[in-house]
Amino acid sequence: MSVVGIDFGNLQSVIAVARNRGIDVICNEVSNRATPSLVSFGPKQRFIGEPAKNQEVSNFKNTVASLKRLAGRSFQDKEIQEIEKQHINAELVDVHGQVGVKVNYLGEQQTFSNVQLIAMYLTKLKETTALELSSPVSDCVITVPGWFTDVQRRAILDAAEIAGLNCLRLVNDLTATALGYGITKTDLPEDKPKNVVFCDIGHSSYSVSVVSFIKGQLTVRGTAYDRHFGGRNFDQVIVEKLAAEFKEKYKIDVFTNNKALFRLRTAAEKCKKVLSANPQAPVNIESIMDDKDVGTVVNRADFEEWAAETLVRVDQPLKAALEAAGMTVDDIDSVEIVGGSTRIPAIKNAISKFFNKEVSTTLNQDEAIARGAALQCAMLSPVFKVREFRVHDVLQYPIKMSWEATPEEEETEITVFDKNNSIPSTKILTFHRSQPFDLEASYANPAEIPTGINPWIGRFSIKNVEATNGEPSQIKVKTRLNIHGVVSVDSAYTVEERIEEVEEKQSPTKEGEEAKPPVTKKVKKLVKKADLPVVSGTTSLSRPVLEEFREKESAMHSTDKLVHDTEEKKNALEEYVYEMRGKLEGGAFSDYIDPSIKDKYISELNTVEDWLYDEGEDATKSVYVSKLDELKKTGSPVAEKYRESEERPRAARYLTQAV
Ligand code: ATP
Ligand code: MG
Repeated sequence: MSVVGIDFGNLQSVIAVARNRGIDVICNEVSNRATPSLVSFGPKQRFIGEPAKNQEVSNFKNTVASLKRLAGRSFQDKEIQEIEKQHINAELVDVHGQVGVKVNYLGEQQTFSNVQLIAMYLTKLKETTALELSSPVSDCVITVPGWFTDVQRRAILDAAEIAGLNCLRLVNDLTATALGYGITKTDLPEDKPKNVVFCDIGHSSYSVSVVSFIKGQLTVRGTAYDRHFGGRNFDQVIVEKLAAEFKEKYKIDVFTNNKALFRLRTAAEKCKKVLSANPQAPVNIESIMDDKDVGTVVNRADFEEWAAETLVRVDQPLKAALEAAGMTVDDIDSVEIVGGSTRIPAIKNAISKFFNKEVSTTLNQDEAIARGAALQCAMLSPVFKVREFRVHDVLQYPIKMSWEATPEEEETEITVFDKNNSIPSTKILTFHRSQPFDLEASYANPAEIPTGINPWIGRFSIKNVEATNGEPSQIKVKTRLNIHGVVSVDSAYTVEERIEEVEEKQSPTKEGEEAKPPVTKKVKKLVKKADLPVVSGTTSLSRPVLEEFREKESAMHSTDKLVHDTEEKKNALEEYVYEMRGKLEGGAFSDYIDPSIKDKYISELNTVEDWLYDEGEDATKSVYVSKLDELKKTGSPVAEKYRESEERPRAARYLTQAV
């Protein structure tokens, strides 16, 4: 059974697996340790990850990026309309209230919801992992930003389920990082905690977490975020400057041409990366628009000046996280940075300046999150034994339950899980009711959660409630903030007071005195009387919809696989024709074929070649297979004869030596 951690990034994702020797990062089909978080659609198949990246420009309108930031969002969401739209080439549409895309797939317009798109991507990551491990994959831990709300988390969980993954935990990015950091440290203090700040600046988002470590456990003390701060903001700074320069120099306006803008953005990202290690970076784009080639050189000093307004934003989340933790800079023992954008020297310097100490990069910047997630998975999986390490994570936004007022109760809401409440956690609420009633869970401070996200979490109907002897029944409702950071009502039941007799032992009052006989006391006890059914309505997909999406995903996956296999068989046939003809025409096989059939066979090979470029361009898998089998009828005996004759002298040599 595999143990997998997935750092689902907005730009790229990293997969790590736990093996007996430790944690390894999985390489994808082109040996990269990170896979582009992209899904694209074609006339015959989908392209996911690397192949989607390769045709991002040529298959422009059918490529979907920013998958993670679409999770759980509605189409009208301001952040989708004003921000994400700029980063997604495919057309965004409303799919049953959710944001989705409209693309051209299998020759027709089709729409897919964000959950389906994420499921497609996770299916690909699952396949990449299974290929590398040579075994099927199911259990995994997926990381999400700590600022993800209930609806976003549920979207990822639904997507994982559609992809056939069993997500043991959705863990906050930096909590996973902290776990990976803590578990390998052998010198953690017994009492006075070691306080470490973790900063992750990725492509789109910035997270800070203050974590206290003592031997065998970590506690998240405070977190803060800038949800709209990351590498892409810096790309944008370069884009804007260069667009202005090109307008002046080449009389083109890239903002009027989406493809040109996209290509400039890609070039800006590359330029930004080069500037992290060099004082200057060239930017050249051929035929960007109106058949014009553009070129310039950017200096690091200029870039930093252009980005000055963006760079000042580094401090705020650091301040806020310390404040949330009730600490000052002096309380911090170490600062660890992860995420691609912490490679920008100006960012690193700003963090270092804030804490007045060198930042530490003991963690692998690109892989620490995935590695931590794999460790978390190993800890939760029954098949692995990991050193005991306790993880206390906390909730970001307070959650309340509300209900309708009754004559008996004036209160209509309560904050069940406050900010910094432990994850997971259970709270029992008490009600006095004579009739069924509803509870509604929502975020208590809607202004705090990401803009555009509905603060509503779910409605839970407690059924079969009746009066007891003409009085309201006492009802306990078990609310749960589960291991994923998702809220639910686990169960509800009626209780009644019972007088019970308990025996109480009496200890001797004087030394040497004999123990007195136990006395019987009457005590009031609350005991569970009956379970009550709970009907939950949340933002998770319903079972039938999940099943439908799962079937669709599996059908699309089979189509992709068939296209892939067909392509492989076609290539095999083509290769065979070339190789065989080369070897027959004056090559190694020429002496091993009967001259009477040689010409006929070569012409047979030529016919297949012509066919491949003509009507055979687009045949089915079985046709390619049977053509190859047909050619092998003549070809294989020739190859066999050649092999035998080659082996004979080798065997003879071996025998001579052995004697
Ligand atoms: P997010 O965390 O927002 O979901 P992500 O996890 O996909 O996104 P990362 O992989 O951590 O993001 O980082 C990607 C970002 O880091 C990109 O913006 C990329 O341009 C930037 N980046 C990578 N290497 C460098 C570098 N050497 N210098 C500057 N920026 C870099
Ligand atoms: Mg990231």
